[in-house]
Amino acid sequence: MLAQAAGGPLHVGYSPQIFLQEVDNVFLCAYCHGVMCQPVTLSCSSSHKICRHCCTELSKTEPLTCPSCHEPVKTHQLDIPFKTLIDHLTVRCIVCGDWTGPLEAFEQHAECLCPSRVVGCPHPGCSHTCRALELADHMLVCDYRCVPCELACGADVIAKDMQSHLGTTCPRMAIPCTYCTVTLPRGDIPTHLEVCPEMPVDCPVPGCLIRPPRVQLSAHLHDAAVDHVAALTALLRETQAELAAKTTECLQLREDLKRVVASDADTVTVQISSPAAMTPARKPAPLTKRGRPRKERRGKGTPAVEQEEEARVVVPLE
Ligand SMILES: [Zn+2]
Ligand SMILES: [Zn+2]
Ligand SMILES: [Zn+2]
Ligand SMILES: [Zn+2]
Ligand SMILES: [Zn+2]
Ligand SMILES: [Zn+2]
Ligand SMILES: [Zn+2]
Repeated sequence: MLAQAAGGPLHVGYSPQIFLQEVDNVFLCAYCHGVMCQPVTLSCSSSHKICRHCCTELSKTEPLTCPSCHEPVKTHQLDIPFKTLIDHLTVRCIVCGDWTGPLEAFEQHAECLCPSRVVGCPHPGCSHTCRALELADHMLVCDYRCVPCELACGADVIAKDMQSHLGTTCPRMAIPCTYCTVTLPRGDIPTHLEVCPEMPVDCPVPGCLIRPPRVQLSAHLHDAAVDHVAALTALLRETQAELAAKTTECLQLREDLKRVVASDADTVTVQISSPAAMTPARKPAPLTKRGRPRKERRGKGTPAVEQEEEARVVVPLE
């Protein structure tokens, strides 16, 4: 534990309180008054020593002078033998009050081993801090711990999000059907909706916008028979009008085609028996090795249509 003597700079010498024996004045830093950390010997005539960090702090603000004798200091050097003497002094951890040992082992105890050191909960999102010896108890009840779903749906959930998981996504949570009085696990609702008697369904009659509950569909078909006939009649009229328009268009195209044939009869021969005969074009027959179209084999019942294998389209005019 670093001393941070009252009013002094940070990262300074060790508090004399942690040492088991009274500390000789020779080990104290004249700048921070703590037991020297990383002692450096100054180039003053008395070779006074201070903490290395204190030396750096002093150099920042003014030309370095020894805080003991106030002589100007040109150089300073880490004093390894003196540091070893300090490292072997025995200290007690005042945080846990239990541990004693050489100063050189104190830092590891304080940062990694002391049961009373302050630690943070490792669960992501949790900002709880406590003594290391209390951490295990906290982690058992921490809101940010990961726990299996209360209803054993197989999901792992952050403890504080359990209610939200049960309320919105858990497939095992029992919820009421939106339409009827049945209560089922959330995961079974889609299957239930396929048969739920109160769920609204589409009326199968085109043009009818009413969506009766499934259980009332046949009653609706019976009750709305007149409306359904009206809707179907309207639909039929619409379809008939469309068909008439298409037929007119077809006849017009046929007249146009006749005119084209009459004006250039040497090169175009066209065959259309009726508009209904306009079937999708068949694929061209695959070529044989000699480059002629291969004749398709046909079953007994299939009449041969030789025109399709010709390069020209033959259309006799009526
Ligand atoms: Zn110091
Ligand atoms: Zn000095
Ligand atoms: Zn301790
Ligand atoms: Zn926590
Ligand atoms: Zn669940
Ligand atoms: Zn239902
Ligand atoms: Zn209907």
